[in-house]
Amino acid sequence: MRVPLVAANWKMHKTAWEARTYLKRLLDLVPPEPGVELAVFPSFPLLPEAARALRGSPVRLGAQNVHPEPAGAYTGEVSVLQLAELGVRYVLCGHSERRKLFFEDDRFVGGKVRAVSAAGLAPILCVGETLEERKTGRAWPVVEGQLALGLEGLGSPGGLVVAYEPVWAIGTGVAAHPADAREMAARIRAWLRDRFGEGSEGVRIQYGGSVKPENAGEFLRLPELDGALVGGASLDPDAFWAIAQTARR
Ligand code: PEP
Repeated sequence: MRVPLVAANWKMHKTAWEARTYLKRLLDLVPPEPGVELAVFPSFPLLPEAARALRGSPVRLGAQNVHPEPAGAYTGEVSVLQLAELGVRYVLCGHSERRKLFFEDDRFVGGKVRAVSAAGLAPILCVGETLEERKTGRAWPVVEGQLALGLEGLGSPGGLVVAYEPVWAIGTGVAAHPADAREMAARIRAWLRDRFGEGSEGVRIQYGGSVKPENAGEFLRLPELDGALVGGASLDPDAFWAIAQTARR
């Protein structure tokens, strides 16, 4: 059985003080055995502080980005070893904001996935179509292409998470229809089985895009989905925990 993973992507929000206050509240809410895996993804400068606060707790630490190379002349970038040293467990690869605003393409994203996986951390490969691609019936071919290149050269899918995040649902307040998310998750699962065989059964598939406490249950109760990647609503620890609770099995 796959334990659902509910992830809080803080994006470029929160100061160190705000992060401390948030994590204190979250750890007051979350019991020692939450019945679901939780992870928070602060921006890089907050990671040491968050690692300290989360030590010994059931909440995992994630990073929002990484560079594919192990070291080198890449000003402004962060390596997987640097993340591993901080106790980071999950790393977002190819979030749609990185693809759109920072021009990351599928091959570059694939390099990140391989680097994260090779270091023994767990990549979360983000995939999803734009509204235009959905309207013109290209949602699946686009997602399939992102999977093919994003997972190219990956020997084993151990630890891998795939987040299906339709671009038009991210930060808009308009979530996908649960039936569409369900259909896409089933296609992703079938594709993973084809690509990795039995080893794919442990891969978790999340939905992301305007998940909030009011609609989380509609997604997280679906057997095809193993959790959620949450942006805006995760900035409040009570809302994040309310969302996570709907994933408990
Ligand atoms: C995200 O950033 O991955 C996301 C899903 O954001 P939001 O929940 O705000 O749509």
